[in-house]
Amino acid sequence: MTTVMVVEDEEALALLLKYNLEKEGYEVIIESRGNKVLGQVEKYLPSVILLDWMLPELSGVEICKLIRSKPDIKNIPIIMLTAKGQEEDKIKGLSAGADDYVTKPFSVPELMARVKTNLRRAPVINPVAELVFEDIRMDLVAKKVFRGDNYVHLGPTEFRLLKLLMETPGKVFSREVLLKTVWGDNIYVESRTVDVHIRRLRKSLNEFGPDYIRTVRATGYSIDNHLVDDGDE
Ligand code: CA
Repeated sequence: MTTVMVVEDEEALALLLKYNLEKEGYEVIIESRGNKVLGQVEKYLPSVILLDWMLPELSGVEICKLIRSKPDIKNIPIIMLTAKGQEEDKIKGLSAGADDYVTKPFSVPELMARVKTNLRRAPVINPVAELVFEDIRMDLVAKKVFRGDNYVHLGPTEFRLLKLLMETPGKVFSREVLLKTVWGDNIYVESRTVDVHIRRLRKSLNEFGPDYIRTVRATGYSIDNHLVDDGDE
């Protein structure tokens, strides 16, 4: 089923959109809090996002920039919804990375048509369907991880960390590179946060097999099958 995310803090409008989108056969996820949007997008991977400009905590423009900075979700089409009809705002929205721009009040049929157009434009997000290393298998479409026959539950950050490591087994990734790739440029996170998430990743994975994540002292992490632990994890 095609999922559309509606980011809108006006409840009546959000419900109107949900009603009409569901009538078209889409699954709809509503989010009203600006600072929750990124996490929700990563969790549900919607096919298109309707994004209100004026939101509490984070503006639509800021959210748009954040989404565009994340490798896993940056290609999801974004339609900005706004009460601002100014030409300069439109330019600002589009330069922040929005694909389309609809001014409130809009006609519902017109918005539904825009959703369809942007869905057609949506690229395939995961050309690689699966990553395998030893007994670890990542299903990138279903976003699931298995070790042998066991399902390994991972949080979204741990999933992205593992994906990066598994894309190039044996390669040592520095904390800085992991931060930049997994968390993005625009978010301030301390480098020891990487260690916290690596620890969680290990805990989940190692329940079903040996530890293939290698800590390289003063450098970073890699995944490989040399069962040597250089670090102090
Ligand atoms: Ca609003």
